Amino acid sequence: MEILKNYVGGSWVDSAEKNTTDVINPASQEVLGKVPSGAATAKDVNTAVEIAEKAYKEWREVPVMTRVQPLYKLKALLEEHREEMAQTITKECGKTIGESRGELQRAIENVEVACGIPTLGQSEFSENIARGIDEFMIRQPLGVCACISPFNFPGMIPFWFLPYAIACGNTFILKPSEKVPLTMMKVFELIDQLDLPEGVVNLVHGGKETVDELLEHPKVKAISFVGSTHIAKYIYSKGAANGKRVQAQGGAKNPVIILPDADLDMSVKIIADSVYGCAGQRCLAASNIITVGDNGKVKEALYEAAKSRSTGYGLDESVEMGPVITAESKARISGLIDQGVKEGAKLLLDGRDAKISGFEKGNFIKPTILENVPLGGEVIKTEIFGPVMSLVELDTVDAALDFINSGRYGNMACIFTSSGANARKFRNQANAGNIGINIGVAAPMAPFPFSGWNESFFGDLHGQGRHAIEFFTQTKIVIERWPREWSRKF
Ligand code: NAD
Repeated sequence: MEILKNYVGGSWVDSAEKNTTDVINPASQEVLGKVPSGAATAKDVNTAVEIAEKAYKEWREVPVMTRVQPLYKLKALLEEHREEMAQTITKECGKTIGESRGELQRAIENVEVACGIPTLGQSEFSENIARGIDEFMIRQPLGVCACISPFNFPGMIPFWFLPYAIACGNTFILKPSEKVPLTMMKVFELIDQLDLPEGVVNLVHGGKETVDELLEHPKVKAISFVGSTHIAKYIYSKGAANGKRVQAQGGAKNPVIILPDADLDMSVKIIADSVYGCAGQRCLAASNIITVGDNGKVKEALYEAAKSRSTGYGLDESVEMGPVITAESKARISGLIDQGVKEGAKLLLDGRDAKISGFEKGNFIKPTILENVPLGGEVIKTEIFGPVMSLVELDTVDAALDFINSGRYGNMACIFTSSGANARKFRNQANAGNIGINIGVAAPMAPFPFSGWNESFFGDLHGQGRHAIEFFTQTKIVIERWPREWSRKF
């Protein structure tokens, strides 16, 4: 099987690294590709950075209206090839085909927003800030920017950054997750068809060694990272120590409150989708479900929704949930379920004995529910990243808010209620950057920043929307004096 190539300087090139890691279909265990991984990928990074820096010198001079033209074409190509890319996502990542189509839609929307940079990136000008003096602020690109992305949204997450970076006049290097590099291979086949100068957008494969070289290379000016919290912290501290601008989105443990006045049918359907969609491998997956007051009816309805969810190979259109990414991941999730029970939770529904006909070796776990999960234990605080719901019963909204606000993460918090006052209080006081009110996955649309807080984000400016434009530009203030007496008389 061919080793995946890098895309550098407008061409597909072999990696300097000969060691590889297998890309594995998590449902069938079929090997889909071989991705270079090892110390020599650092050489690949070096080559890519030199080429990207050379390209930057020309690209930053290209007028902004011209710079966005390839993005219009990219949007059209992504739409034309959406189905084959969705199939690739499902094959390498495991999620259902509907979920794969959905994430590509979000990717395309980011390209659309980035096409607005001629307006969104406009400068500010004050005439006569002092007598006869004008002052203005211009936004200039940074140079070579790099993105390191996770496995769970192989088609969407690079688009939180790539279109904005290049539309702002930077050049770009993407390092996709080594677990799911094939979707971006397809995207770069489309990028290859654009009228982009060589070296503006590059793709380098690899793992830790590749990332470390990006973090250390003095010509890399900015790093956009999405992944787990401990790696996000590492990226943020090492990148900052090396003088780079860094935005690092981390993990999560998302709470959802359901109040007695919520619409039961609607809430339960949405909460089950949030917990079990993408097999729980979403940074915005609901994880801790907190009922206020007697939770009998809610528990029963959630149990039915979980139990009836069909699990299987994501390419089967009738399937509602696919496998988790790796066998190690399955073992880790299974261990956390055991730990929950040891800590005192009751296993209301155990999905670990999942046998999927034709996919017996797949990393499947069916929907699982732990109830009465103790607040003092570890499982209630740990990101499980699998199809596991933790049910907690509390007496008041204030107790629920106290519990939520004691957590280390802050990616998302949601409430289900028909009370405007309770919803407003929650919106005001919940310690999270993305809030859902009668919404189960409060994923910001492309014009808004993806606003994680606490240990779900390290940095200042988030991905997407206006934050992306600010992240990928640096401001320059110019103060000018042109004395009237210097005017020439013609
Ligand atoms: P991960 O942290 O294992 O990997 C992410 C990237 O970091 C990959 O490209 C990987 O090659 C690289 N990497 C891994 N170990 C490294 C190391 N030691 N040094 C340098 N680089 C390293 O994350 P994952 O398992 O791919 O993704 C799942 C995690 O991402 C979850 O925690 C999830 O919550 C989080 N996530 C967060 C968001 C968000 O917006 N906050 C979005 C999606 C996923």
